[in-house]
Amino acid sequence: MSMDAADESLLEELLAGKHRALARIISKIENRSPGYRELVSELYAHTGDADVIGITGSPGAGKSTLVDKLAEAYRDQGETVGIIAIDPSSPFTGGAVLGDRIRMASTVGDMDVFVRSMSARGTLGGLSTATADAVKAMDAFGKDKIIIETVGAGQNEIDIVRTADSVAVLVPPGSGDDIQTLKAGILEIADIFVVNKADREGAARTVQELRDMVQLGDESGLAGGGHHSQEVIDAHDDWDDEPDADGAADEGWTPPIVETVAVHGTGVDEFIDELAAHREYLVDSGEHAEQARTRYAEEIRTLLREDVHAMLEDELAAAGGVDDLAEAVRQGETDPYSIATDVLEPVAACLSDLETDADADSR
Ligand code: GDP
Repeated sequence: MSMDAADESLLEELLAGKHRALARIISKIENRSPGYRELVSELYAHTGDADVIGITGSPGAGKSTLVDKLAEAYRDQGETVGIIAIDPSSPFTGGAVLGDRIRMASTVGDMDVFVRSMSARGTLGGLSTATADAVKAMDAFGKDKIIIETVGAGQNEIDIVRTADSVAVLVPPGSGDDIQTLKAGILEIADIFVVNKADREGAARTVQELRDMVQLGDESGLAGGGHHSQEVIDAHDDWDDEPDADGAADEGWTPPIVETVAVHGTGVDEFIDELAAHREYLVDSGEHAEQARTRYAEEIRTLLREDVHAMLEDELAAAGGVDDLAEAVRQGETDPYSIATDVLEPVAACLSDLETDADADSR
């Protein structure tokens, strides 16, 4: 795909490590500015090196505090960090708030912790698509660790967090009903459980309850496999980038439970160790490759759906607009089936022309 000169130099700047270019490209992604597709398309060749970590949990669970401490610890190890904070509903423009947050919480004065907030409100099109594209931008930039922080609630957030290779679910100590009330969907996507606020009463009990639940899940085959389907891998033993399916993959992954006191940074090192262990499991078991395939397949489908949809809307407009057509149906002049066929005809003709051209080219 071809880019205009301005975008080309923007891409060069991003690849050269200019944070300003990274910020501008993410804005283009959010706004779907002209040329964003060509830009994202060019990013792919430079991606694949980052560890993408998803952190989710209810409001007040301590996500922001923990993410700050995690970023700081990674920085101390010499890793660069990008944070995407997803704010599904906030009326605030989160950028400034989050920027302050990081500045206050972080001892590192450099830009190697790059924070970006994204909200459903500020994002044209799907938030999960925009998040995935923003991850691509940070990955291509060269960030070693990319952290997606999101409030765990609806399907939308679950879709978003699936962009991550490893998902940590924060569970604060609670009255005991908490585990039961956690959304099943949230529990199923957890690769690691973090009982934050372990300084609070009831932490040990929450850990025990999670342990029981994980064990139960292991036995019933529900949890314990994380959010990735082992069957798919087994069904494709012939994919040669996969290690032997008889290896670690068969054992699956049992989500560990880590206790943290985010405000003091306690337990963060252990959390980092578990994230590393999960990463290793993903690669060794072949799940990492499978995750990537699943994600790319979904991206291809989403793009095609959007493109075809836009194309059909154009055709519909050219045919007189849906309102006039609906009125024609009401008047008994035609029917929806005939209209659908008529509207699709030029698109289908166009596609078959393309195929004929492609055949001619390949000869
Ligand atoms: P978020 O909404 O999940 O991002 O939660 P925040 O990170 O904003 O934390 C919510 C509140 O819990 C803040 O007042 C934090 O200072 C506090 N907090 C976070 N982690 C801990 C912890 O480990 N122990 C205690 N006691 N408080 C914590």
